[in-house]
Amino acid sequence: MYNPSVQLRYNFRLYPTPGQQQSLARAFGCARVVFNDALRARQEAHAAGLPYPLDGELSKRVITEAKKTGERAWLGEVSAVVLQQALADLNTAYRNFFASVSGTRKGRGVAPPRFRSRKDRRQAIRFTRNARWRITPGGKLRLPKIGDVRVRWSRNLPSEPSSVTVIKDAAGRYFASFVVEVPDEPLPQAAADVGIDLGLTHFAVLSDGRKVSSPRFLRRAERRLRKARQALSRKQKGSANRKKAAARVARLHARVADARRDHHHKLSTQLIRDNQAVYVEDLAVNGLARTRLAKSVHDAGWSRFVAMLEYKAARHGRSFARVDRWFPSSKLCSTCGTLAESMPLNVRSWTCPCGAVHDRDVNAAINILAAGQADRLNDRRAQVGPGHVPAPRSEAVTHPDAARSTRSVEGISVL
Ligand SMILES: [Zn+2]
Repeated sequence: MYNPSVQLRYNFRLYPTPGQQQSLARAFGCARVVFNDALRARQEAHAAGLPYPLDGELSKRVITEAKKTGERAWLGEVSAVVLQQALADLNTAYRNFFASVSGTRKGRGVAPPRFRSRKDRRQAIRFTRNARWRITPGGKLRLPKIGDVRVRWSRNLPSEPSSVTVIKDAAGRYFASFVVEVPDEPLPQAAADVGIDLGLTHFAVLSDGRKVSSPRFLRRAERRLRKARQALSRKQKGSANRKKAAARVARLHARVADARRDHHHKLSTQLIRDNQAVYVEDLAVNGLARTRLAKSVHDAGWSRFVAMLEYKAARHGRSFARVDRWFPSSKLCSTCGTLAESMPLNVRSWTCPCGAVHDRDVNAAINILAAGQADRLNDRRAQVGPGHVPAPRSEAVTHPDAARSTRSVEGISVL
């Protein structure tokens, strides 16, 4: 059954008072302890050759019973839902790990769950509907055992959210991330199809010959982040200056991430609007990650961009497909089909014996388009038509700060 809707995240900045910040810190801490206690229990069971404790048993042990001990009595000070959700997170982490090991889950390998630390870059707690959180008539976010937290509403929620995650990022900012079910919005038929080569010299090269670079504000922000990182590395360990420099790195890092996500949103939205079918090369980022190209690959954030294309295609009735990763897109002449012997990365343009002169990346994009269209005709790999593709957890909607800092229009739901 296909569900004509997609789950999106809407993120808003939160401004907790100092007292609420303390309550949130306590809730983050309690969720972390429950997660870690449960992880330890499962690891110990595994080491002893015992079956994994069942969910109910685990919950009783690390929440209900733990609360009665002096050591963990403070677990009673936070919403029980937050603690249950920490256990749910652990389950998800295990499920993903097992699916990855058994091969039922595609893509990058998933590591086994690891212990959470108070030093993690991101602290988060989740309130589901039964936690009785709500938005007050005055527009505040009422969280059990925390209070009414001020929100900057940068847009309207399209429907009632099913849950809210409260996040503190590395830069010390707080966000509320609401999960909202949004109906599909099929777009009128578009005339064009497009193949996209995710290049190293450009962010993306399109089969129509266009090359898309990272916008200047993003490159500038990245440069500033690089410098701040260098400055940090020169500071003495444990010094006050080092602390300050680290805070600056965290702030700039958050800004770069926001700007990048915003750029990805705008580009993916435009590509989905203008094209009936979008084909990208399946990049096996993991393979590239082992090479010296790793850094630029990861910085460019391709996999996140491609994930955006995928769920937006699903939502707007477009076709999307990854073209097989072993397909020799850069070596194949898109005019005559001759396969060039080798194509070192520094070769930017080449001439085929048939006389065609190719820009390396544009030629690759044209080949990706042709291969995608052929697959689709054969009705093989292509995923024709919309399906239920959940938005990646943190990628669905740019938060207001991203929109402001980059003077951009909107995230995804404006398509
Ligand atoms: Zn040729």
